[in-house]
Amino acid sequence: MAQHPPEPFRIKMVEPIRLIDSAARENALKKAGYNLFALKAEDIFIDLLTDSGTGAMSNRQWAAIMLGDESYAGARSYFRLDEAVNDIFGFEHWMPTHQGRAAEGILSAILVKEGNYIPSNMHFDTTDANIRSRGGRPTNLVIDEAYDPANMHPFKGNMDIAKLKAFIEEIGAENIPFGMMTVTNNAGGGQPVSMENMCAVADVYKSYNIPFFIDAARYAENAYFIKMREEGYAEKSPTEITQEMFALADGMTMSAKKDAIVNIGGLLCMRDNDLFVQAQNELIMREGFPTYGGLAGRDLDAMAVGLREGLEESYLAYRLNQTAYLNDLLIDVGVPVIQPAGGHAIYIDAGALLPHLSHAEFPDQALAVELYREGGIRGVELGSVMFSHEDPDTGEMVYPDLELVRLAIPRRTYTQSHLDYIAETMSKIVKRADQIGGYRFTYAPQFLKHFTAKFEPL
Ligand SMILES: *Cc1c(COP(=O)(O)O)cnc(C)c1O
Repeated sequence: MAQHPPEPFRIKMVEPIRLIDSAARENALKKAGYNLFALKAEDIFIDLLTDSGTGAMSNRQWAAIMLGDESYAGARSYFRLDEAVNDIFGFEHWMPTHQGRAAEGILSAILVKEGNYIPSNMHFDTTDANIRSRGGRPTNLVIDEAYDPANMHPFKGNMDIAKLKAFIEEIGAENIPFGMMTVTNNAGGGQPVSMENMCAVADVYKSYNIPFFIDAARYAENAYFIKMREEGYAEKSPTEITQEMFALADGMTMSAKKDAIVNIGGLLCMRDNDLFVQAQNELIMREGFPTYGGLAGRDLDAMAVGLREGLEESYLAYRLNQTAYLNDLLIDVGVPVIQPAGGHAIYIDAGALLPHLSHAEFPDQALAVELYREGGIRGVELGSVMFSHEDPDTGEMVYPDLELVRLAIPRRTYTQSHLDYIAETMSKIVKRADQIGGYRFTYAPQFLKHFTAKFEPL
């Protein structure tokens, strides 16, 4: 039986939520062009759109917010964050940004040239788009096990080292301005990367003189998976594991809205001084002065506390077990989910649940819409709507291997009974899955289609 861990916190402030009736939900869907991003948040009962910036801050973080120093330059808040970033990640240089994508945008602006390739285990959508918008080609080289939803590999976020070497040989290191790794692998199911694999990736990049950047959004969840699953790490703290991992890299981009448990913020870190100078100039143009980088002083203070809280063991044990609990419940009611459970989210295999729909009929979107229709729950598709694109060489549509719907779990926000309700809702959808129809675009922009596209039922 699925086991839910007792939350290592108690609640002292509540935010009311409500379930509007079924006719009102149908109406809301129509008005939104069947795009869940276009719904009013107040019309959603349980919002699992993202775990990004949606977590509950702690009493210590709210207290830190009141200490925020709003000086334009050299604020105390900056130096408190400096200490946390140095303690945990240990890069020579860093700068705050307003989100992860701003860090990716800056890195892409200074390093990516037309025709360059950027390998990774798997790029997240904003990273993918930032690289493409500079004429670069993001390339995913995750191990094959990642594409098999039933495979129980403990580190399904790992890079395929043989593929990486062959890729660099084929493309030429001179056409690869930097290489990446995403921890955990969000686009591939929130699956972790092992320390052994990180070392091997770092060695390969180093041997070709390719700078190595980690997309660090879920540094803490990845560290806890290593502690639980990798030999030799059971006695190490998540902080020690994180320090060991980031010592392997030349830099990182990070969305602080995930494991640093803040509502806004990001980081860009690096070792190389010349690169830092260029990045700072970009930062000043797009984000702000280097000691605030597009954030308020209070945001920096909340991040400084959150970076450390995200690494607390009692919190991480609760966090990952809560996700595993929902995964187990869904398996019990017959929902095909990616196994084993990832860190921050459940990934439902919509392709397997709705096998009568082709990639072009968006089974990912169809299931996401159905969750709202049935139970007022908002998830997000991570399938053809988000990832299909025209091949720049052939002009043909390229579809992703998996049609996923992600139920992201905001940190410290929903309780066990919310998760039970989600499983009940899914069990009703499973029973009528064969009658669920597909969708087509009535509007879609070139990049990051999923945010603003409109649909109609087929
Ligand atoms: C969220 C996320 C990003 C982008 O960060 P934002 O703060 O949303 O801009 C990049 N990579 C990964 C893996 C993410 O999860």
